[in-house]
Amino acid sequence: MAADAPRSNFIRQIIDKDLASGKHSQVHTRFPPEPNGFLHIGHAKSIVLNFGIAEDYQGTCNLRFDDTNPLKEKVDFVNSIQADVRWLGFEWEGKPRYSSNYFDQLHGFAVELIEKGLAYVDFSSQDAMREMRGTLKEPGVNSPYRDTSIAENLKHFADMTAGKHEEGKAALRAKIDMSSPFMVLRDPVIYRVRFAHHHQTGDKWCVYPMYDFTHCISDALEGITHSLCTLEFQDNRRLYDWVLDNISVDSHPQQIEFSRLNLQYTVMSKRKLHLLVEEGKVSGWDDPRMPTIAGMRRRGYTPSSVREFCHRIGVTKMDNQVEMSMLEACIRDELNHGAPRALAVLDPVRLVIENYPEGEVEALQAPNHPNDDSMGTREVPFSREIYIEREDFRESANKKYKRLVLEKEVRLRNAYVVKAERVDKDVDGNITTIYCTYDPETLGTDPADGRKVKGVIHWVAAEHAQPAEFRLYDRLFQVPNPAAEDDFFSTLNPDSLVIKQGFVEPSMAAAAADQPFQFERIGYFCVDSQDSSAEHLVFNQTVGLRDTWNDQA
Ligand code: ATP
Ligand code: MG
Repeated sequence: MAADAPRSNFIRQIIDKDLASGKHSQVHTRFPPEPNGFLHIGHAKSIVLNFGIAEDYQGTCNLRFDDTNPLKEKVDFVNSIQADVRWLGFEWEGKPRYSSNYFDQLHGFAVELIEKGLAYVDFSSQDAMREMRGTLKEPGVNSPYRDTSIAENLKHFADMTAGKHEEGKAALRAKIDMSSPFMVLRDPVIYRVRFAHHHQTGDKWCVYPMYDFTHCISDALEGITHSLCTLEFQDNRRLYDWVLDNISVDSHPQQIEFSRLNLQYTVMSKRKLHLLVEEGKVSGWDDPRMPTIAGMRRRGYTPSSVREFCHRIGVTKMDNQVEMSMLEACIRDELNHGAPRALAVLDPVRLVIENYPEGEVEALQAPNHPNDDSMGTREVPFSREIYIEREDFRESANKKYKRLVLEKEVRLRNAYVVKAERVDKDVDGNITTIYCTYDPETLGTDPADGRKVKGVIHWVAAEHAQPAEFRLYDRLFQVPNPAAEDDFFSTLNPDSLVIKQGFVEPSMAAAAADQPFQFERIGYFCVDSQDSSAEHLVFNQTVGLRDTWNDQA
């Protein structure tokens, strides 16, 4: 499992108390995703919390698929979720669990409630049920089916289970209190009819338990001690406790709510993420612009950077929106220390060094990290023709511009000082070639005569350069909270992906997909795990060298 320094929060304080008082001797948590989409960075917060607590208290954490809605769930999502949890560095206790593992028991508990006079089958239409529910200001009204006898209810529920009632025509409701100030306690539906094939239980069932009924019982059956969920379930805690108080289970886990992670300039609801994928606004769930774990992985985020982010945001009961720059700082900090440097030119222009011998190739030594000798050096070929970045040359410029200017000098990174002599242009006035001379005495040292050369630019040798595609990513949306918009598609950022065709130094041809790099003076990049091949290298920009978010805002 992943080892990070634990940071205290109100949930850990509750656990500390429970252990000290002897209420529990072992901590048992669970992470309960519904397999109806890929995991996103919000789930990472819950994963790091649940698995992190289990790890730090030498307890256990289950992975449980909360699969009570067969219409929306898929085995593909089951698989991606397991891969993502493992990628984050966590391992669950035993086999993955499924709420559907407990369908038999859940059905038995529903029967138990009926037998105790605490549940009834309602044949009201859904509209009528909604009507009778009341509002926050007005109490609800009892259903005409509320006082059906226990014997009749048992028969009705058996009929539901046997497929004798159509979808939407009958539902099992808990008999609690139609005038409760908590809407969830106004006789909530706990079982409904669904003639649907289930990815785990096949066609065995045509009645499925509702989330609120399922979740608390699954927690209890698994011996979960602390059931951590997000704040929107605060009211549902009343129902969670009511169910467990009224059925024959041995344990009663404590539900504790914390605030969801909201991240600016993106959306987190799976329904919205689905829409982005289905409408082709992104290339898939793992599009590097998506806030999904799979997208972030493909973008070049590391498991430790995601965990670090989850630690930095902390766990509270306060709802807020986290700035994207916080997430980016975590990966930038890590890569600044750990990522080997390399040279890439994204918008190339040809530069010819006229006094450098034709056909000669020098193997220069370049350090892999400027501040860490232990990362070693690599060979970089140098020759008469190279590419530099188009924006690194100007025909004239003031002193602030510390790059190459006509009749002025600049240092080529890890190589010589060159001086720009003249340029060729095409008919439209675009520079096609920059002609330079170089000073052969300046490899690794300043000019002997004491003249100062301040600027340093990056380059790749033309003949040895590997063509490469660079995918530069920006925020997916133009507004901080796209979820608040009526039409969130209208706020998509049209420039969230910019593609450049350029070159990388030859050593990059062998780069592995999970290896991050800093392309010097540009940013952090990784090989695209889907689209890159030896014939067509593709690099994703993970993050820029500096925080540009706050500048843009
Ligand atoms: P959505 O509304 O996007 O479908 P969900 O909460 O229904 O999300 P689940 O698959 O049910 O998604 O979530 C599994 C677990 O992850 C739950 O315990 C949930 O509270 C937690 N979780 C989901 N989104 C976030 C988030 N943004 N921040 C923190 N925890 C989250
Ligand atoms: Mg859910």
